[in-house]
Amino acid sequence: MNLLAEKAREQVARAGVRMARAGLVLGTWGNVSCRVSREDLVVITPSGMAYDALQPRDIVVVDLNGSVVEGERRPSTELELHLAIYRARPDVKAVMHTHSVFASAMAVARLPVPPVVEDVAQIVGGAVPVAEYAPAGSRELAENVVRALGQGGAVLLANHGLVGVGDSLDEAFNVCQIVEKAAQIYILAGLIGTPTILGENEVIDLRYRYLTSYGQNKGGGERR
Ligand SMILES: [Zn+2]
Repeated sequence: MNLLAEKAREQVARAGVRMARAGLVLGTWGNVSCRVSREDLVVITPSGMAYDALQPRDIVVVDLNGSVVEGERRPSTELELHLAIYRARPDVKAVMHTHSVFASAMAVARLPVPPVVEDVAQIVGGAVPVAEYAPAGSRELAENVVRALGQGGAVLLANHGLVGVGDSLDEAFNVCQIVEKAAQIYILAGLIGTPTILGENEVIDLRYRYLTSYGQNKGGGERR
């Protein structure tokens, strides 16, 4: 097994622990994957194993058709959803799927999470849409998710949860945390008043500034 895949297995195991400790999932639900750089391989968390006990050897290496290349465990039941995103979006390097409470509440109401705070505009670039309902683990769900996600950074799964994507595991994790926070703020703001949603031009401006000048190593349109 090549070193890049081994490193990716360690990173996915760590990301699974972070996701669980951040309260974005309960028990063994949710799943995390990343693409192996310069290879047509994906590494993904196993089905039904507790995140705190995950070891790199438990992480499964598959090709883009879902055939297991390395690993003894069965891959996540949402493998097809992850692979469909990687096939449709060459720019996506990592996918995280959570069942966090407030994002799931929006998914149950089948309402998009609007850009109500600046970090959603910066990280996601607009409202988080809702993919049509299909049973967990189904090919239909994978197709619905890819369609609703488009070129965006996150998508709600009707009556289910949230998917965040990024060019790294850190970014996918940030997306899931920030969408969860925005869903919470939006729901709370609606209890005490009428939430004001950032305007389209404000969102475009925030996103552009984030992509071009936020952080330490960006500039000239480069993201990193
Ligand atoms: Zn799920």
